[in-house]
Amino acid sequence: MQEIPTREEFLFLPDWQKALFYVLIFASMAVFAYQILIRFKLWRQGKPIDWKPDYIGGVIRYVLAQKKVKSSRPRSGAPMHLMIFYGFLALFVATTLLAINTYSPWKFHQGTYYLIYEFTFDWLGLLLVIGLVWALGRRLFFKPPSVTNDPGDIAAIALLLVVALTGYFVEAARMSANPKWFDTSAPIGHWLSGMIGPISPNTYVWIWWIHSALVMAFIVMTPRLRLRHIAYAIFSAAGRNPDERMGALRPISMEEVEQTGKIGVTDHRDYSRWHLMSLDACMECGRCTDVCPAWNVGKSLNPKHVVQNIRTSMTDGRTVAEAVSEDALWACTTCNACVESCPVLIRHVDLIVDARRGLVTEGKLAGTAATMLRQVQSTHSAWGQSKDEREKWMEGHNIPLARDLISRGESFDVLLWVGCAGGTDPNAIRTYRSLAAMLHKAGVRFASLGREEVCTGDPARRAGDEFLFQEMAASNIATFEAYGVKTILTACPHCFNTIKNEYPQFEGLYDVLHHTQFLARLVSEGKLKSPTFADGSVTIHDPCYLARINHESDAPRIALGVASDQNAYETPIGKYLNEPMEESNVLAEPIAHGRKTLCCGAGGARMWMEEEANQRPGERRAKQLLDTGAETIALGCPFCRIMLEASMQKVAPDDSPQFKDVAEILYEANRD
Ligand code: SF4
Ligand code: SF4
Repeated sequence: MQEIPTREEFLFLPDWQKALFYVLIFASMAVFAYQILIRFKLWRQGKPIDWKPDYIGGVIRYVLAQKKVKSSRPRSGAPMHLMIFYGFLALFVATTLLAINTYSPWKFHQGTYYLIYEFTFDWLGLLLVIGLVWALGRRLFFKPPSVTNDPGDIAAIALLLVVALTGYFVEAARMSANPKWFDTSAPIGHWLSGMIGPISPNTYVWIWWIHSALVMAFIVMTPRLRLRHIAYAIFSAAGRNPDERMGALRPISMEEVEQTGKIGVTDHRDYSRWHLMSLDACMECGRCTDVCPAWNVGKSLNPKHVVQNIRTSMTDGRTVAEAVSEDALWACTTCNACVESCPVLIRHVDLIVDARRGLVTEGKLAGTAATMLRQVQSTHSAWGQSKDEREKWMEGHNIPLARDLISRGESFDVLLWVGCAGGTDPNAIRTYRSLAAMLHKAGVRFASLGREEVCTGDPARRAGDEFLFQEMAASNIATFEAYGVKTILTACPHCFNTIKNEYPQFEGLYDVLHHTQFLARLVSEGKLKSPTFADGSVTIHDPCYLARINHESDAPRIALGVASDQNAYETPIGKYLNEPMEESNVLAEPIAHGRKTLCCGAGGARMWMEEEANQRPGERRAKQLLDTGAETIALGCPFCRIMLEASMQKVAPDDSPQFKDVAEILYEANRD
């Protein structure tokens, strides 16, 4: 009778060697657990988290489904990492099944199941080997500039590769020393066995021990090498705040200040426990650095180093300001490109802004940004505009004021929020006048606040002055409540983000729309018509605070009636579309667009900070827009426009395309 397919555990091993194996494997697991315990104690030094994690959902989405690895950029490392991850996971599952069979009363590792098991995991293990060879080659021969290449990294990849390869050799050696009729069910092991030829049981035992020793070394070394992210990324995914929004910074309460005596972060203990844990999850892939607009123009800010240096400060006694230079902290535009690209969910912007809060509290913000904060404090405008001036641009343009309407017993449906730039910058003023004209044309009952509006507080919050932000937010929310505001419309993505994502932290809950969303809705309802222009003559610059942080890049394209790769975008505006566009112009897309857009350099209060002549992120973006060959650059952000127009003058002084807000373009198309 033919032998039933199965595998004998500890083949050819005498009892004393089995006992030795158990002692060593438990010892290595104890060393592993001890090292994690030490890190756990360090994380415990942080502040307790004030959210309820979605443990299972987080692990399924971000670990098992590898959601961030698949979607993050640059894409070059993603397939490699997916191969390594799923290959490793397959071998982990295979080992677990084997352990269940060995140590439980349920003996299932035989017959057809065994043949399928051998075949499946033999092939899946190859994913790990290919991924690791790719990773090694990427570091040694075709290394992206932001990827580090220290000996520890090479050792980590090499160790895992040797573990995987010796696993195949153990399988092949078993077949060579103890051949069976069903060995062909593991084709790679069987092929290797043919190469090795017959061997003695003793040789097999040696090979088995070499592989086992490497596995134990791997277990012991994992928390030390960059392989640690295998464990810590699971904790990070499980513990993340499921309600967090990319555009919302953490509020600080007065009670918290009274308890801690601190505003913001000076040393690592001031971060939350989850933030400290997430630092350990860093896999040092360099994606955050690759996409950082500040690093890409030669500034000292390197988001990967921010993470690594704060992590080091957990043990070397340095403060955060000693571990990360002040220049680096102030260089951040809070564009969130790093956060979006990080596969292990690290929130660099939280780390940086919390450290800025610490610096501001210590009086370490000087120069033009400090002037901006003083202006917000004294005039309630980031540009120091007086209350009277806030209404000047409205004169003669039929822009109803809420207080006038209410005093006449009238009402309005939509609040037109102007913002500091909207009432100051000549181009932004043109945008708002165009927008107001179209609202009238479409029959929208709207009003503005004029002198009753104060800065949203966005630049103050991102510059690290949390309580100035909260003062502004409280004032605006009180005004909104007094007028019973439900819907807010604004042409500034920074105001849009702050009112939409941050005012709810203070019970300010409104339906907030960016003007391109509102215009897209009016176009899809037939109340406005889209412009026509020659194919390729228009391009769109997506603002970070709209496209990346609030996932809206369809709206400007819908409003302009331009065809684009719809799959590249998420579509919150989609709900307003009744039917697909039939005729459309072709948009000249810049290389970075949609959620992967490139920052103009103005966010995070950088608008009010000095910029070195050769370190302007806006010039890099201006070149990308110029490369589209478009004559018109459409945008939807007053900050981007100021930055990019100035940058374009440097990049192409004699051949600069024209900049126009989406509202202006639509206004021209709908003028009677
Ligand atoms: S938010 Fe933008 S500027 Fe700041 S570190 Fe991240 S990528 Fe760099
Ligand atoms: S912080 Fe995230 S994106 Fe940056 S190197 Fe670490 S794992 Fe990669």
